[in-house]
Amino acid sequence: MTTTLNYHSAYHCPVCRQGKISSMPLMEAFACNFCQHIFTANLEQQLLKMADTQLPLIWRWNGKTWTRVLQEGMELGWGYGVAGIIFVILPTSIIGFGAYLFPPLPGTAFSWFPIFWTILAFFAHLACMGWLVIAYYQFPVFMYLSALRRRWI
Ligand SMILES: [Zn+2]
Repeated sequence: MTTTLNYHSAYHCPVCRQGKISSMPLMEAFACNFCQHIFTANLEQQLLKMADTQLPLIWRWNGKTWTRVLQEGMELGWGYGVAGIIFVILPTSIIGFGAYLFPPLPGTAFSWFPIFWTILAFFAHLACMGWLVIAYYQFPVFMYLSALRRRWI
């Protein structure tokens, strides 16, 4: 069964995928009952745009589900991906290379430390990148996790 995008129906939220978006009373806008994001709609083109962000987050309703509409020049290009990978790999390899060039004397206290430090650097930078991606897409991490917990308990 397919439906068109209209102000009288409720749809699953394209952002959190947990809540339902429905039109706000007396307003030509949709709001999610879970992540609280607000959307404006273009019914002729069946488009939904997130209204409470500067980012051009737009989805098209195909009758069953949302597909992300990518805008020219505003999407994260492959250059960002490469920069992100370098950001994670470079410090890790510098630290790892240093540990390789100047290995600690075997058997001494803290001889495990360079390897531990290398692994720590990798995960710290990886976490930074993950956080940036989450912030960019304004993904409601904590609400999503609590919704998953509610579902499993
Ligand atoms: Zn939502």
